[in-house]
Amino acid sequence: MLEETIFDIAICGAGPAGSTCALALKNSGLKVIMIDKAVFPRDKICGDAVSSVTKRVLRQIHPDYEQELLQFESKAYITQAKLYSPRFESLEIAFSKTGHCIKRIEFDNWLYNLAIRENKELIVKMGSAIKDVTKEKDFTVQLDSGEQIKSKMLIACDGAHSVAAKKIAKIKVDRKHYSGAVRQYYSGVSGLSGKALEVYFLKDFLPGYFWIFPLPNNQANVGFGMLSDTIAKQKIDLKKSLHHIIHQIPEVAERFKNATALEDVKGFGLPLGSKKYKIAGEQYMLCGDAAALIDPFSGEGIETAMESGKFAAEQALKCFQANNFSEAFMQEYEQRVYRKMWPNFRNHYWLQKILGDRKWLINGLIRFGNIPFINKQIPKVFY
Ligand SMILES: Cc1cc2nc3c(=O)[nH]c(=O)nc-3n(C[C@H](O)[C@H](O)[C@H](O)COP(=O)(O)OP(=O)(O)OC[C@H]3O[C@@H](n4cnc5c(N)ncnc54)[C@H](O)[C@@H]3O)c2cc1C
Repeated sequence: MLEETIFDIAICGAGPAGSTCALALKNSGLKVIMIDKAVFPRDKICGDAVSSVTKRVLRQIHPDYEQELLQFESKAYITQAKLYSPRFESLEIAFSKTGHCIKRIEFDNWLYNLAIRENKELIVKMGSAIKDVTKEKDFTVQLDSGEQIKSKMLIACDGAHSVAAKKIAKIKVDRKHYSGAVRQYYSGVSGLSGKALEVYFLKDFLPGYFWIFPLPNNQANVGFGMLSDTIAKQKIDLKKSLHHIIHQIPEVAERFKNATALEDVKGFGLPLGSKKYKIAGEQYMLCGDAAALIDPFSGEGIETAMESGKFAAEQALKCFQANNFSEAFMQEYEQRVYRKMWPNFRNHYWLQKILGDRKWLINGLIRFGNIPFINKQIPKVFY
């Protein structure tokens, strides 16, 4: 059946980028298929920090969607970050807008179900991995089930290990612009405020950070990440390092005395937005992690995945209206993404470089930040 149909658009991946793209294509009249190797609900290794920008993206598609997210029960309300220096002095910084921590298994499933509920024409193909993508006049997406899906346009939202990005856009991992991170869910970590993203810059684990992010029901998302270049050069084992941090660093271990690990440590890669790639070409666009759109300092990529998914949907509508799928026309998408996101990526890349492993600088900045009258509010650049 699928083999005989030529779809207008194949969205590869149903995470935040793919589901937002499918949602923004509702009522388009286009024949759209969304493919994912997983069957939802599925987990995604993440810090689960869902910034306030995601609400803005949903609101722009339809104000009701933001309201639905606000009614989502299982979430923490995040109003501040608490930064710890290598000396364990802390600095609390308020966010200008409230964000959330929501387990990705729940957030992504909610977004996916919103997309299939609202985009009534959307066809979904779940539980089949994309093995290969080829292009002649149209794209052919080869699934591991043996099925082939043909489409005029391809929107790659298949994450950090995107088959489509590798095959079509020839994107390769660049370790200088890539991070590795691990996550472990805990319950019973002491001292959780319930509203702060806690970030520790630890003297023996720089550049990089250890995090404790609060979740409902006295749970926490706990993790540790570093640049892949550093991991490779210093032969760092992230899983062992997380174990060491939690159990051997007294200031941290104290908080985990009565805590219970709810799972084994799990790791995944983060393609950072500190390097520009070719993310659009004739008949295709890349979004989210497939396009390497993760903030190079904070590691946040949900908001940019959703925003790029929305931009790709809007560009696709223009292409079908103008019947123009040329490389030149598709550049509008790439330019729009980088116009919006690059200033932030560039600044945060420099912040990452400047702080590096300079303990004295991080110690100094956190101490300086505590001086009264210094503004301790972070404006969100994407609003
Ligand atoms: C440890 C860690 C912590 C992080 N913490 C945060 C955080 O706190 N806040 C934040 O904003 N961001 C965080 N990020 C980044 C964030 O997880 C990603 O940027 C975000 O998930 C990108 O969304 P996406 O839709 O592009 O990709 P994904 O969420 O990865 O979705 C891709 C989808 O494609 C599917 N797929 C993959 N390959 C195939 C295939 N071959 N065939 C078919 N389907 C396929 C997958 O099943 C998946 O559903 C973190 C990342 C890591 C690794």
